[in-house]
Amino acid sequence: MRQSALFTKTRREAPADEVAKNAQLLVRAGYIHKEMAGVYSYLPLGLRTLNKIVQIIREEMNAIGGQELIMTALQDKDLWSRTDRWDDDKVDNWFKTSFKSGGETGLAITHEEPLTRIMTEHISSYRDLPVYAYQFQNKFRNELRAKSGIMRGKEFLMKDLYSFSKDDAEHKSFYDKARAAYLKIFERAGVGDQTYVTFASGGIFSEFSEEFQTVSEAGEDTIYVDEEKRIAINKEVCTDEALAKLGLEKEKLVEKKAIEAGNTFNLGTRFSEPLGLLYTDETGARKPVVMGSYGIGPTRLMGIIVEVLADEKGLVWPESIAPFAIHLVSLGKSGDDISRIADALYDDLVKAGVEVLYDDRDVRAGEKFAESDLLGIPKRIVVGKEAVETEIFEVVNRATGKVSKTPRAELFPSEGGPASGRV
Ligand code: ATP
Ligand code: MG
Repeated sequence: MRQSALFTKTRREAPADEVAKNAQLLVRAGYIHKEMAGVYSYLPLGLRTLNKIVQIIREEMNAIGGQELIMTALQDKDLWSRTDRWDDDKVDNWFKTSFKSGGETGLAITHEEPLTRIMTEHISSYRDLPVYAYQFQNKFRNELRAKSGIMRGKEFLMKDLYSFSKDDAEHKSFYDKARAAYLKIFERAGVGDQTYVTFASGGIFSEFSEEFQTVSEAGEDTIYVDEEKRIAINKEVCTDEALAKLGLEKEKLVEKKAIEAGNTFNLGTRFSEPLGLLYTDETGARKPVVMGSYGIGPTRLMGIIVEVLADEKGLVWPESIAPFAIHLVSLGKSGDDISRIADALYDDLVKAGVEVLYDDRDVRAGEKFAESDLLGIPKRIVVGKEAVETEIFEVVNRATGKVSKTPRAELFPSEGGPASGRV
């Protein structure tokens, strides 16, 4: 894409009322737009990155047998009353409104109830189980705090997968697979080293739920990390009894600030019983389906990656989720030799399947470099006088600042080489 055609502009100042580093940088770089406190739109660059995060999650969910669907944002009050999660004194973050034709509705905070009801039409026998279904869908929560930018939105994207199993053993075996898939996702998104499986309050059914907490000063949670075992326990549940159960020793734990990137819950029959999701087992007996839920916020994860990897110059994206693999920066003026060389390189890179943002504008070099740093694309190729004379290009690694001189042919992905950077 030519930067001269990109409608978004970068800006020097973040909105005065924006306190979160992630949102400040993403707004300044033109990735997102702040509509209201805790409510953000995703502009072209931001959407490219968000879509890459979504695709990583989708691949890992498909790999463990997940089937993708999409459910509605508008929710049925009667359904949620059956599980006692409609009243504001039970769940206090609903956005509710009413139909002109009468009756109330709410904007989805999560989707256990509607999916369980859908499954009552598709699951009736042990032969129909297990089932794993997931979606990427906007959730709406009337969150009180809005200090965390896109890490805590009132409207945000969630990947939520739900598992439906015959019994605890079948459930447990999937739960373990989901944990491994989650760890892969955070690894692929570039924050694997900073993310820990963290035991937290059980929520609905089992003693503990598992959170995936990424260590960051911007985090709202406090966790205690066992670096050797690479697991942690949330402060909320960190009692002597819990430590003993988990085989953790107090002396080995280090306190850290962290943000929850994902979590997994054993739901047992909390939803299948009240909503009548039963199946007939091999002996003809009717039994409630055993459920689990598995959430990740792709928009929160995007914010977490900014918090963890950005530096004083701006955003720093891992290759796997950068909006473009290469930022091609021409120091020429339209029509001169430098810009002719840059144009040709751009065309050839695009033909080779490389995702390139091409800064073809007539703007001062210093300004271009500062903007390039702010955008955070992993590699910058600079086309200046030297390139015209020698066909050697300066390549700058955004994360390390390392500069190398690279001959033109080596700027292209090698045949059969790593696919990174290709469309
Ligand atoms: P938290 O304790 O941080 O509020 P939660 O326990 O409410 O999170 P879940 O309801 O389990 O979170 O949601 C699943 C995932 O959705 C979370 O792990 C997180 O990644 C994401 N998420 C939850 N709330 C928000 C939000 N307000 N904005 C963005 N992402 C969110
Ligand atoms: Mg919450």
